[in-house]
Amino acid sequence: MSVVYDRVALIGLGLIASSMVHAMRRAGLAGEIIGTARSAETRDIAREIGLCDRVVDTAAEAVEGADLVVLCVPVGAMGGVAAEIGPALKAGATVSDVGSVKQAVIDNVAPHLPSGVHFIPAHPLAGTEQSGPRSGFAELFDNRWCIIVPTGDADADAVARLRALWEGMGSFVDTMEPEHHDLVLAVTSHTPHLIAYTMVGVADDLSRVTDSEVIKYSAAGFRDFTRIAASDPTMWRDVFLNNKEATLEILGRFTEELFALQRAIRQGDGEMLHDYFTHTRAIRRGIIEAGQDTDAPNFGRSPTK
Ligand code: NAP
Repeated sequence: MSVVYDRVALIGLGLIASSMVHAMRRAGLAGEIIGTARSAETRDIAREIGLCDRVVDTAAEAVEGADLVVLCVPVGAMGGVAAEIGPALKAGATVSDVGSVKQAVIDNVAPHLPSGVHFIPAHPLAGTEQSGPRSGFAELFDNRWCIIVPTGDADADAVARLRALWEGMGSFVDTMEPEHHDLVLAVTSHTPHLIAYTMVGVADDLSRVTDSEVIKYSAAGFRDFTRIAASDPTMWRDVFLNNKEATLEILGRFTEELFALQRAIRQGDGEMLHDYFTHTRAIRRGIIEAGQDTDAPNFGRSPTK
């Protein structure tokens, strides 16, 4: 693989940015990688582990001379970062991001970018519940989708170059309209996270009654909820505040389905429950056939893990 961008600047050095560094290095996609983070603590860790070629103290300094700038901060912080870097961007540079919501990021970032800079938002559909500069790994994006959301007047060559970067980092790439992206993600990621947070909260209330049996017997379903519910609180607060409409729409539908299942249980309607679960089992099979999960029992974990 050859160099796609001579100089890449990453603003924010958490899970996604650090994984990008490892994935770019693995394939030799960037000539030089400059990084910065809000806190001195994170910048010091990044220096200590040699994450980037250079770690600088401010975002404005990081973007000087960069061909690609990627905003890797929580969705609610994107606008402030864009305001800071706007005047320092090189003419012809591409600015992208990795935020989990797209319309709000476009609304908050675009006004701060000068003309002559290409703004091409993106979202890698890959993550873990870990955070910070030590949590990244090169394989995070392998065989996962990255959704590129080109704004109306996006330059085709600049979009093709960003696509080449994500493909080089191991991703499949698709393009989408921002509003559609936000609705799809509300179904596939945002609402499931909210349900996991809720279920863990309910179990926590219960554990006080049952003297920690919830933790002791937390195998299978509940354990997976706790993993999702351990995700970064700032990131997820910002996702819900910035994808309000789509999340509320999907939550409304979820509540209706839940009531239907509740009624079936109360009325002893086994046929309804069986049909419903047969349908959902087929969806799981589709995910496995699409290569987006393993069909090994228990997600491929050994019984002792
Ligand atoms: P992370 O590990 O928590 O790292 C976040 C980074 O943003 C840190 O370097 C942090 O700096 C910085 N930051 C936080 N608040 C800031 C602020 N107000 N102003 C400036 N910088 C700030 O997060 P991540 O998981 O990499 O997520 C980064 C972005 O990727 C988010 O927009 C998220 O929606 C998106 N994303 C995440 C996942 C996932 O599963 N984690 C998946 C796809 C997309 P300090 O360390 O100095 O505090």
